[in-house]
Amino acid sequence: MTTEHVAAEINAWKVAQQQFDLAADRLNLDPGLRRVLREPRRELTVHFPVQMDDGSVQVFTGYRVQHNLGRGPAKGGIRFHQDVSIDEVKALAMWMTWKCAVVGIPYGGGKGGVIVDPKKLSMKELEHLSRRFFTEIEVLIGPERDIPAPDVNTTPQIMAWFMDTYSMHVGYTVPGVVTGKPISLGGSEGRNEATARGCVYTIVEAANHLGMDLTKSTVAVQGFGNAGSIAAQLIAAEGATVVAVSDSTSGIRNMSGLDIARVVNWKKEHGTVKGFPGAEDITNAEVLETECDILIPAALENQITARNAGNIKAKIVAEAANGPTTPEADEILFARGIFLIPDILCNAGGVTVSYFEWVQDLNRDHWTEDEVNAKLKTIMVKAFNEVLDQAHHHDVNMRTGAYLNAVQRVADATAMRGLYP
Ligand code: GLU
Repeated sequence: MTTEHVAAEINAWKVAQQQFDLAADRLNLDPGLRRVLREPRRELTVHFPVQMDDGSVQVFTGYRVQHNLGRGPAKGGIRFHQDVSIDEVKALAMWMTWKCAVVGIPYGGGKGGVIVDPKKLSMKELEHLSRRFFTEIEVLIGPERDIPAPDVNTTPQIMAWFMDTYSMHVGYTVPGVVTGKPISLGGSEGRNEATARGCVYTIVEAANHLGMDLTKSTVAVQGFGNAGSIAAQLIAAEGATVVAVSDSTSGIRNMSGLDIARVVNWKKEHGTVKGFPGAEDITNAEVLETECDILIPAALENQITARNAGNIKAKIVAEAANGPTTPEADEILFARGIFLIPDILCNAGGVTVSYFEWVQDLNRDHWTEDEVNAKLKTIMVKAFNEVLDQAHHHDVNMRTGAYLNAVQRVADATAMRGLYP
């Protein structure tokens, strides 16, 4: 069975609830609170028509889920992918709740998705689909209510269409309704690189903690989208040697190191990393099991499972993706002494700079990139050390450490607000 087949068999929502349950047990969470936090607050499914270039009308299905609104408006991206399902979006929304709490930004968790392979659409079809989907979910959306952002296969251009669509409906420009916008429309400096930059900040902290020298370390990256391709460049800039990368079609490896800037150009030209000169073509599964010190899964859910966790060679696994590791695999990695930086901490840089973007939009302000990066670093380093302390204190892995911090914060806020009515 391929990693894709294994991943498709695992239900991300079950995984998310299982992770929550582990933390709720340890925290001895009040049973009522536990029942509340275990389910999403709102789930919206929409079926909407789009006129295609050939004149036909196709109906697409999309979702927006708000898991929790206790600490602030819902926050989370929208993905366009052929494998999107309601359960995947529910899991991603719940993870956003914990992610925002782990780094201490004042948001709840939400997520959206459309079942579509955007690579098969023309630019015009993509714009129509984006604008109509946003219109359909607008009953939930607003700068004080629910603020979308990019995720898998969605771009600053799509965020610009979302912002414009909302603004046309209300009759004035509302930059704060969505983050990850182009800079010319109220986007933040540093937002595009933020997920990867935050991830690399946590890797630097982990390497210091483990006494590893990054300039002598090798790295493998699964996924070459916004998170993976930029993480590969930033970790190389720290002096590490990137030996393997992959995209959704294929992987490449060169044990003496890949020139990542050249791989980025190759991908731009050829649409895939496959065939990059001087590297051997390998499978996505082989990238995960490559001999390396640091593994960065930066693609989709359920990639590291009970089937391959025993074969991971890395000392650090840094989850730039959401949900790449199953709970069974977590146990195997922990027992093998592999240090995992969990998604809700590792990739929280993206939503953190989204928060900065929203604050700048609401204040009609614009910060410099240095200001953004410095604030991001402060938040990531603090959150990393809080999670590490929690993990040591309870003698648990970093994921459970992160969940203990996050769930406790959300539970405290929920309990303080009390039950309405
Ligand atoms: N989609 C990103 C995530 O999974 C960013 C969300 C946001 O910026 O709101 O964290």
